[in-house]
Amino acid sequence: MRISLLVAALLAASSARAQSFPTADPVILRMYRIGMDSSQTPTLAHVLFDSLGPRLQGTPNIKAAQDWLVKLYRSWGIEAREEQYGTWRGWRRGASHIDLVGPRVRTLQGQMVGYSPGTGARDVVREPIILPRFKDSTEFVKWLPQARGRLVMISAALPTCRPQDDWAANATPESKARMDTLMVSTQREWASVRVTAANPGDGASAGVRGSGYSSALGGGELGLRLEQGGAAGIIASRPKLSWTMGGGRTPAQAVAAGNQGGFGGFGGGALNTGWGAMEVFETYNLTTPAIALDCEDYGLVYRLTEAGDRPKLRLNLDAQLLGEQPVFNVLAQLKGGRQPDEYVMLSAHFDSWDGASGATDNGTGTLTMLEAMRILKQVYPNPKRTILVGHWSGEEEGEVGSKAFTEDHPEVLSGLQALFNQDNGTGRIRNIGGGGLLHSPEHINAWLGKLPMEWKARINFAGPGRPAGGGSDDFPFGCLGLPAFGLGAAPWDYGTVTWHTERDTFDKVVFDDLKYNATLTAMLAYLASEDPARIPLDRVDLVTQAATERAAQQRQLDSLRAVDSVAAANLQRQFSGGGRRGGQGTSWPACVKAARKTDPRLK
Ligand SMILES: [Zn+2]
Repeated sequence: MRISLLVAALLAASSARAQSFPTADPVILRMYRIGMDSSQTPTLAHVLFDSLGPRLQGTPNIKAAQDWLVKLYRSWGIEAREEQYGTWRGWRRGASHIDLVGPRVRTLQGQMVGYSPGTGARDVVREPIILPRFKDSTEFVKWLPQARGRLVMISAALPTCRPQDDWAANATPESKARMDTLMVSTQREWASVRVTAANPGDGASAGVRGSGYSSALGGGELGLRLEQGGAAGIIASRPKLSWTMGGGRTPAQAVAAGNQGGFGGFGGGALNTGWGAMEVFETYNLTTPAIALDCEDYGLVYRLTEAGDRPKLRLNLDAQLLGEQPVFNVLAQLKGGRQPDEYVMLSAHFDSWDGASGATDNGTGTLTMLEAMRILKQVYPNPKRTILVGHWSGEEEGEVGSKAFTEDHPEVLSGLQALFNQDNGTGRIRNIGGGGLLHSPEHINAWLGKLPMEWKARINFAGPGRPAGGGSDDFPFGCLGLPAFGLGAAPWDYGTVTWHTERDTFDKVVFDDLKYNATLTAMLAYLASEDPARIPLDRVDLVTQAATERAAQQRQLDSLRAVDSVAAANLQRQFSGGGRRGGQGTSWPACVKAARKTDPRLK
């Protein structure tokens, strides 16, 4: 024990010496020492992810975690409070036991989706039935009595649960081509086809398999309709195995592609490395349970059912629907001494989906801000401007907590100097957005110039950029034209493995990156607080901006295409889709009012 502590201390000392500091500012030097040499992130992560667990909106779990957070801040001498902004449907998750009991026994890898009713913690044994293909919704209604008392399978069974990379590396070209075609056609056959003005369809193929109903995030309208029809349960499957024609990359190509992506997470990482990771979302059913099975076990049950083996599943699900419950944001602050009515905000959502522990979405963003506040309190306890952290809830329900905050706190908006938001996984921060403000570079570049030079060198700051386009909590501030800056992390297979899955757990946290993120964020908050001037709110011209970006993207695509056509095609899709980070729109994004009570998303 003694020896390992000594070694750790030596390593820490040498890592500190390896950095070159452009200023002798004692605050920056002390922040570096505290953040990098005595990080508390492993202990905090253990409590939050292992002991407290997932933080789904409206659950007793998130409330317990919020209470812990407030107590922790107070124990550090930092003012903190919970602020109610509305209500949301409450739910308690108990244990999920899902077993195949005939024609043979196997305990299946699956669990209830969020907010699912249980079986009263009693064993229920039922036979599955596969949702057939319908001509139209009338035919679906005629079929519905057959679903009574059955477990209805509403997702595709994939022909392979191996990732695409594995096929690319090991299959013969002919069998890879066959599998590409089969995977894509299977996914298309089971896609929930949306009828919109742009895609009117003929009515026949609308919804899942022509039923006329969507399955949304785990059940959707189809789940409700099956519940009305007396189904005993809904079985869905959302493996991280989306498949693109001709895909598959070498690890080196995956890294190259990851380095091209702006905010990482979704653009980067290897393709389809899920190996069974599955997304676990939600249902609006009130009596019929909805469960998620992983790729392999969903396929097993499907094949047995299809072959006429009449498999039997035993479900024992414990859950409680609790009705509308109060929901809160947690706010903590270090009051400004000289300019208390001006604010530097740290921002990260605290809530999560609950298939696992929400470790990378957004536990790591949470710990970045929490640890930054700990460092700030020790090194810079009397800031010039007020430093305020927002640990939002309801981000996964449409950023409802942060939206409500912007509506309820005009005094913070009018005094906002800068907001830093982080929400794309555990990786080290390497991009900073400019919020679409013309003069943000003058300030951000000045701050970056005071960081350790090796840190500055790894951060890509590409000028004013554009306002956040939705998908995280910088959006409700960015849409108002305020200085809200996204901190973009290295991807670490966030989009392909951990995002919203049952694999989002403690072991996925990269602590070296996390302690760097917390220390960097503390330094940025300090520098933004001390900045002699406010950032003017003049906006970039998004029409000109879009043209400049298109040209830059084209150059990027051309160079990537030369080395990796698959990565280039993916990047192009990301560019043309606009992504979740603002895209190429030519008008400023419009703000959206906060939902103050449960707002069902069924499509
Ligand atoms: Zn998130």
